[in-house]
Amino acid sequence: MTDAPLLTPVLGSLHALQVPIPYPMKYVTVLLDRPAGGPVTMIDCALDTPEARAALEAGLAALGLHWPDVDRLIITHHHPDHYGLAGVVEERSGAQVQMLDVEIGRGERYWHLWEEWLPGHLKHMRDHGLPPESLESMGADNRRGRERVHPASRVQPLREGQHVELSGQPWEVLWLPGHADGHLGLWNEAEGTLIAGDAILPRISPNVGLYAYTRPDPLGDYLQTLGKLEALNPARAVVGHHGPVMTGVQARARELRDHHHERLDFMKAEAAREPRSAYELSLAMFPRDLNISGRRFALAETLAHVEHLRLLGQLYRTWNEAREVWLYHA
Ligand SMILES: [Zn+2]
Ligand SMILES: [Zn+2]
Repeated sequence: MTDAPLLTPVLGSLHALQVPIPYPMKYVTVLLDRPAGGPVTMIDCALDTPEARAALEAGLAALGLHWPDVDRLIITHHHPDHYGLAGVVEERSGAQVQMLDVEIGRGERYWHLWEEWLPGHLKHMRDHGLPPESLESMGADNRRGRERVHPASRVQPLREGQHVELSGQPWEVLWLPGHADGHLGLWNEAEGTLIAGDAILPRISPNVGLYAYTRPDPLGDYLQTLGKLEALNPARAVVGHHGPVMTGVQARARELRDHHHERLDFMKAEAAREPRSAYELSLAMFPRDLNISGRRFALAETLAHVEHLRLLGQLYRTWNEAREVWLYHA
């Protein structure tokens, strides 16, 4: 990645910028569009680190731009690596921040109500078996993450099916839920090009997690999104990580669907052997040594799978009074 150019041309005046993030993926893709005579658009903005701020400024400068030139900031979803600097971009540039309407009412709202939401988040994890010592470090880890996020003061809604202009062409707003409830995609049919965010990624499977504030069946949502992407069959997609551009989206969507079905079969078999909490199932599903945020993702991903099975009537859950935990069973 170190040899990758700072800016990759995507289409006309639309460019992809690799911005460093302190996560295993190392970079997040930020898009910059500077059409002749049109509004300057940024898509996604990374989270607040000195390195990310510097990379964004360098990317803007390479296009002859400064913060005040940015007219519009579109965010694919509320995760810190895509949304974190939204409030800073808004303040520095006066840009209009836009997100899918579904995401404003959920993920984006979560940052504004963070303090109120944290106890519910921890209770949700505890009720599903996360041990007390992990809960404590998870609270601290969450707090550290929160410091890198600056919520926007005002976000305007985009709606599924409407069009936005980038590089002088119309792009259809898509709703691609699963990785986040209100995950947005932008689709240019004429060019067969999709701006995909984290809805599909090469090399890693986008995390699909059930949290206290998410829709009840994120895996069901995601399997539908994969079907949508398969039918759309883009020639290429601009992706949030390990990109900026990937091809073979249709084949990758099928691969990810198979991967989740394998996991569903595994969970069903494990829960049928003996009743277990989602945390215990997550240790069986992800036996590797993981740090605290890795364990949180593993638990949330496991929960998305077992709750999907429960909603289909293929698994049940019962509250265990003695252990004060939900147990999943056949
Ligand atoms: Zn994400
Ligand atoms: Zn991401």
